[in-house]
Amino acid sequence: MKCFAMLKIGEVGWIEKEVPACGPMDAICKPLAIAICTSDVHTVWEGAVGDRHNMVLGHEGCAEVVQVGSMVKDFKPGDKVLVPAITPDWNSLEAQAGYSMHSGGMLAGWKFSNFKDGVFSEFFHVNDADGNLALLPPNINYVDACMLSDMVPTGFHGVELADVQFGDTVLVIGIGPVGLMSVAGANLRGASRIIAVGTRPVCVAAAKKYGATDFISYKQGKIEDQVMAMTNGKGVDKVVIAGGTVATFESAVKSLKPGGNIGSVNYLGSGDYINIPRVEWGVGMGHKTINGGLMPGGRLRMEKLGSLVSSGRLDVSPLSTHVFEGWEHIPEALQLMKDKPADLIKPVVKLA
Ligand code: NDP
Ligand code: ZN
Repeated sequence: MKCFAMLKIGEVGWIEKEVPACGPMDAICKPLAIAICTSDVHTVWEGAVGDRHNMVLGHEGCAEVVQVGSMVKDFKPGDKVLVPAITPDWNSLEAQAGYSMHSGGMLAGWKFSNFKDGVFSEFFHVNDADGNLALLPPNINYVDACMLSDMVPTGFHGVELADVQFGDTVLVIGIGPVGLMSVAGANLRGASRIIAVGTRPVCVAAAKKYGATDFISYKQGKIEDQVMAMTNGKGVDKVVIAGGTVATFESAVKSLKPGGNIGSVNYLGSGDYINIPRVEWGVGMGHKTINGGLMPGGRLRMEKLGSLVSSGRLDVSPLSTHVFEGWEHIPEALQLMKDKPADLIKPVVKLA
């Protein structure tokens, strides 16, 4: 089968591989559409998961099941499915403790294009099919379905980690596709004011549509100074971090009211430490909680999030700004995600 792979750090290309074998609890799927993620760019060009050779890229897509193992109960060949980016082992102790995404070790629930081949190939393997796959609601198109693999669940997980409540003023730092879904999630949870941080006009326009009420450019002064000016020096109730660097945590702590939570889903690619400002952290007693997490995955969560889209409560269509048709466009779509032109949010490639 043909696959689009990371050949080594900084190099990608087409390779041939054997169709993967299907274990008793597994499924083999063929992609119907795939999306490129900022994480694919981090993986290839920043060596985010370490060096990998001939590893198939990709962890976002929707698919058709072509084979299931003998113990799989709820899926059969021909089923159309959402494919979560994170595919935990649901019988692990970590999953039983509530941290499915860390099943088998820290971050080890992230398997596609990390510990095993990803989804940019004619066929791909899904472990624990009953726990990880989710049926595609009939009225979701394949392009929108790709946004449910990672963008919706990760953006929403940031909102969960920040514990957004009715009436909260929420600061969302970073409004790429992940942060946009955090804006949408905070809005659905009843935030009264959502301050969005980002500069690309296409993202600012989308954030407005998803419920952002105020905007900050991190390029025009410190985020915390702008937040304090907008909130009469009080700060915000909650912060979601979906962009920036290790230095962003300093701004987040300084922008937060005592008792507030920070929910971070951002990938931190450089810097050895995060500095927490002592005074603004209440000299150690400010009840300002910092949570950082990988999204949990899982069929239940995927189907619930899918129902938000199929019911019309969440419109993910503005995210897919660049839609291609055909396998040959995958390299171009990946390059687009690397270059991040001003009009790009997500590139998607339709394969069926
Ligand atoms: P994008 O690169 O599309 O968006 C990043 C956003 O952060 C943009 O709005 C950008 O602004 C803003 N930004 C950049 N630099 C700064 C800064 N110094 N201070 C404040 N804001 C800044 O990324 P994605 O939305 O695709 O992904 C966001 C992050 O989430 C990535 O790190 C990705 O790897 C990670 N991720 C995490 C997952 C998880 O499970 N935890 C899963 C998937 C992704 P501008 O408008 O100027 O570009
Ligand atoms: Zn992703």
